This record gives sequence, structure tokens and C-alpha cells, in this order.
Amino acid sequence: MLEELKCCKICPHRCKVNRLEGEIGRCKATDTIKVALYSVHDFEEPCISGNKGSGTVFFSNCNLNCVFCQNYEISQNGRGKEITIKELANIFLKQQGKGVENINLVTPTSYVFQIIEAIKLARKNGLILPVVYNTNAYENLDTIKMLDGLVDIYLPDLKYSQNQLGKRYSKVDNYFEIATSAILEMQRQVGKTKLNDDGVMEKGIIVRHLVLPRKYGK
Ligand code: SF4
Repeated sequence: MLEELKCCKICPHRCKVNRLEGEIGRCKATDTIKVALYSVHDFEEPCISGNKGSGTVFFSNCNLNCVFCQNYEISQNGRGKEITIKELANIFLKQQGKGVENINLVTPTSYVFQIIEAIKLARKNGLILPVVYNTNAYENLDTIKMLDGLVDIYLPDLKYSQNQLGKRYSKVDNYFEIATSAILEMQRQVGKTKLNDDGVMEKGIIVRHLVLPRKYGK
């Protein structure tokens, strides 16, 4: 599967760079997973964080580069530590050991092939928590289809309904059509929302909308 990185078309940028040979595309991710931090997040959406917190794993680099990004040190300056697939699987299990509600993959898109391998490995080694895919929704349909059965909860941002704003603030074309098509596939996969007895989500999708200060909306 990692062979796909020879001509990376993971996201709609379709950079076609050979990440296995050190080339980098728009997201600046190499062939090695880079993680900025992993933590217990008590302030994700209430039905995601629940009482025990969400086991977030923040990936470095991002394929959208929004001018208003609050995590730009991580998403655009690439701050983080390189790790292997096995180490990522162990992080999932370590998070589970802390008693969190789920494993929350934040900005995972650039590393989706490695993440798929890590989820499979962690499941084999005892991971039972729901996996949350926390994304900017600038995703290829084919990439989202690969996650069918591996992701339990989708948490996409729908950042723009007007494509000209996507162009101005994230330098992408057709954001709305691309994001909504990906979100419909996410919805198809997870179906109806399922909550546990404590009201914490086990399966489903939450679409988040961005509210920006006025100066960005002009
Ligand atoms: S994941 Fe990165 S390198 Fe691959 S197509 Fe998207 S922006 Fe380009």
C-alpha cells in the first residue's frame, strides 16, 4: 500500500510526487509519519470527549494550509517527531491504556496509508476503542473509501460553502463540491449515529462549521 506514495494522489491536490524518494508535495509530508503530540483532550465535542477524554493524536503537516490556522506550527511548519507505523500503533494502545473514549486522528490525511496499517496492527494487538477521523474534509473520495470499516466516527470540518473563500484562504479550487462529496461517503459508511449508555458516540459523523471573525468574511 505504501507503494502509492511513489506518486502521491492521496488528496485532491494530486501532487504526484515520489514521497518514497524524498520528494514532497503541497502538504510537505515525507514518507515517514510525523506526530506533533498525543494527549487526552477533554474539550472535543462533548459526545466525543465524554467523561474520560478523547485520545487525540495530532499529525504534523496538512494539505489545506488555511491562513487562519490556529495550529500552524504543527500544520504548516511541520513541528513534530518522526515515528514508525509500529510506534503509531503503540501510541494508540498507550492512549487506550489511559482509559480514553476513543482514538482521535487529527489531520490524518497525508499519512492515511501508514495510519491504515497502524490501525490494523493495533486492532490485532487489542485496540477496541472507536477510531475518529478528524479532517478538514479536503479529501479524495477514493481515499475515504479505503477507510470503510476502519473508521468508526468521522469528524469533518466543512470550512467553506463559497468556493471563492476556499480559494482566498486555503488556495484550493472547488472546496465545497470536494468536501461535500467526501462527507457524503463518510455518512454512507457510518450510517446512523450510535451512542453508548453514557451518551458518548460509538459510530457516526459530526460535521463542523467554521465561524470566522468578520475581517475574514469580507
Ligand atoms: S497528501 Fe500531500 S503530497 Fe499527497 S497529494 Fe495531498 S498534498 Fe500532495
